[in-house]
Amino acid sequence: MIARVIVDVPTKQTDRPFDYKVPEAMSGWIEVGSRVGVPFGGRTLQGFVVELAEQSEVDLSRLKAIAELLDPSAPLSPDLIELALWISDKYCCTWTAALQAMIPSALKGKAERYISLQESNLHAEAGLPQPVLEHIRKYAPVKLDTLQQRFPDSSAAIKAGLRSGVLSETVAVKDRLAIRTVLTVFPAADSITEEEALAQIPARAAKQRELLSYLFTRNEPIPLQALLAETGSSAASVRALEDKGLVEVREVQQNRDPYAGRTFAPSQPLELTEGQQAVFESITAAVLAGDPKVFLLQGVTGSGKTEVYLQSIDCCIAQDRQAIVLVPEISLTPQMVERFKGRFGDAVAVLHSRLSNGERYDEWRKIKEKRVKVAIGARSAIFAPFERIGLIIIDEEHESSYKQEESPKYHARDVAVKRAKQHGATVVLGSATPSLESYAAARRASLQGDGQSDALLPLPERVGGRPLPPVEIVDMREELKAGNRSMFSRRLHQALGERLERGEQSVLLLNRRGYSTFVMCRSCGYTAGCPHCDISLTYHQKSRMLRCHYCGYAEHSTLVCPECQSEHIRFFGTGTQRVEEELAKLFPGIRVIRMDVDTTTEKGSHEKWLTMFGERKADVLLGTQMVAKGLDFPFVTLVGVIAADSSLNLPDFRAAEKTFQLLTQVAGRAGRHHLPGEVVVQTYTPDHYSVRTAQRHDYDAFLEEELRHRRMMSYPPFCRLILVTMTHEQLPLLVEQGERFAAALRERAARAGVLAPLATAQERAMDILGPVASPIPRLKDRYRFQCMIKYRGNVDATELLRSVLASFTEGQQQGKVLFSVDVDPQVIM
Ligand code: ADP
Ligand code: ZN
Ligand code: ZN
Repeated sequence: MIARVIVDVPTKQTDRPFDYKVPEAMSGWIEVGSRVGVPFGGRTLQGFVVELAEQSEVDLSRLKAIAELLDPSAPLSPDLIELALWISDKYCCTWTAALQAMIPSALKGKAERYISLQESNLHAEAGLPQPVLEHIRKYAPVKLDTLQQRFPDSSAAIKAGLRSGVLSETVAVKDRLAIRTVLTVFPAADSITEEEALAQIPARAAKQRELLSYLFTRNEPIPLQALLAETGSSAASVRALEDKGLVEVREVQQNRDPYAGRTFAPSQPLELTEGQQAVFESITAAVLAGDPKVFLLQGVTGSGKTEVYLQSIDCCIAQDRQAIVLVPEISLTPQMVERFKGRFGDAVAVLHSRLSNGERYDEWRKIKEKRVKVAIGARSAIFAPFERIGLIIIDEEHESSYKQEESPKYHARDVAVKRAKQHGATVVLGSATPSLESYAAARRASLQGDGQSDALLPLPERVGGRPLPPVEIVDMREELKAGNRSMFSRRLHQALGERLERGEQSVLLLNRRGYSTFVMCRSCGYTAGCPHCDISLTYHQKSRMLRCHYCGYAEHSTLVCPECQSEHIRFFGTGTQRVEEELAKLFPGIRVIRMDVDTTTEKGSHEKWLTMFGERKADVLLGTQMVAKGLDFPFVTLVGVIAADSSLNLPDFRAAEKTFQLLTQVAGRAGRHHLPGEVVVQTYTPDHYSVRTAQRHDYDAFLEEELRHRRMMSYPPFCRLILVTMTHEQLPLLVEQGERFAAALRERAARAGVLAPLATAQERAMDILGPVASPIPRLKDRYRFQCMIKYRGNVDATELLRSVLASFTEGQQQGKVLFSVDVDPQVIM
């Protein structure tokens, strides 16, 4: 038998399957998805089997054999192997990078597999040869490698034993993962009666006799520490019994369950409102039909989306299929987890990045071993190794954190759609403020569909008819005119004071994404924008130039505003720390919790702050984006946004969309309970449509305006983007190579007949912008240049790019230019 293996060497040249012989002893074990160690270039490297074959095109005598099998059961399944290939194709990354993204990091080290016997599951038909049984019984846990070497003919039997539960496996990964073991006392009750045992202990050893009786009564393994605590015995008494062979003390490996010992209040399905019921019926009809349909559930915050998710999942698991729920990392709070655990109990695995490697691995194994039916987690939970997925839910689907920023640069939403197709699973994208891409896709699907079931599912009202809070816009230019130079408007200042008096709480949001260097006039709100791209220019201090990062346009920065000739034109940016200082000055004694990257790096700190705030140990929660999402505190009656504009002026075509989403999100934090809420938004551009429509909670109006802009400027969803970043230590060489690369790309596109500006009416079109210096022009001593590819129609831009990259990187020897490709980039900076 031949195994085709993708070896873990992350270079383009080696990113193809290599053939290996499968040794006889492994033949019962190797399958598609197995992780193996193979000889490669004089070393042994890890790899994944992606195909099994009878024959090889390579001369058999020259083939090397697989050196070791790393897991008794393959960590990946054939559908995940296929998905990884799709990812490498779509996102221009190596196959091995995509495979690596799918397994928990505990499996990336060197794993040792240990086999033990589960005596309680042992039965006559277990089919394990006696010598194997005896060996495991005597030496358990036994290294799998050792077993395989010793009993090469029994691999199939051992594998069957693992499947039926007669054998169990545990894994220890060197360096990566410390297995938690607990010393456990096993009574020898099966082979001996209590009287016989007691007869072996002298009458004066009362402690030992007592202990023994206790063990016979319990008749189950007890952790040593617990036993000592329960009986008041000493470890010496236990050892004495062990010496006589009356008990056995062994290390038992434990599963780390971060939620162990926590009880979750069981929750019953609520009676759905009319609106929820309609949405629920559409979703479950698709789930029952095994229809890989993609729904966009658009519901304002508090409209009862989560309840719909819960009941839809119920329907899915009743079909004996599994469900994946993706939520942004930041929303994966204990409250969120509690709602799922409360409904589905232990059938839920939780995967998020704050888990240790070991914890994460344990949760992953629960899924792999079919002990759970629902996986809830951040982006990478989309790879949960379920076998029959029926439903995939992506909550807050517009969040940019669903896109991975390092290789493989995949978007979980697109991977979800692909995975759903493989499994015949239904996808539900939920959001109050859907991304324009998802909205456009849903509208297209609805237009093309059979007209019976719409891909757009609206939930326009809050449960119980609670109103959305009123939003007040404060024009900061007026504040300046009135002589107020503080970062707080008079209105916000007054509102904060009222909350302090009444003992209510406030949330203050500082839009930190805007911490960059854009130029704005504080008198009239003018910002310098690119005449070709409709995005703001970035100030480069060294050259005193304003630049566009899309097209390379540049102009000299001015000292007076070109609109109103004011001299109050300057670079913008405020830090949370400065806001905190200002608060302390204005309101002596005010209790402020500051949440930003500086105060939340520590594990668990995020939750600690929120708990404190929930317990009303602070008056103000001040923070960046992370205070905007998912929080639900009954005593918050004021939400203030300090500078709504700062995200508007980012050199990013999604700036308006991000601003609208953020303002809508944060406004939803106020007045969620009986106390009415109020929102104050400070801005220099009160007339901008993203601010105005957010004030009215009017997504549709925002959408129409934004779509108009996107169409005019040729941005998604009217085209697709690929960002190619090139880096090198020497600037002249990088410039020269960058130009050559762009020329090669253009020449190739011209030959394919697609090179045309997107503004033209042509069906298939591709536009190549740049190269220009990247927004971060130098990083870790490497200069950075970038090209932006815009395309539309059925142009295979990735294929075109791949072929140019291949011929371009071939000739390069040492000191080569590094290329990084980002397909459908979310962050352009
Ligand atoms: P969303 O996820 O859209 O923000 P939730 O599902 O969290 O909304 O619902 C908001 C609140 O309304 C929650 O407190 C929830 O328990 C409650 N709720 C949801 N659906 C119902 C219902 N059908 N009947 C009564 N209360 C409901
Ligand atoms: Zn001005
Ligand atoms: Zn431009």
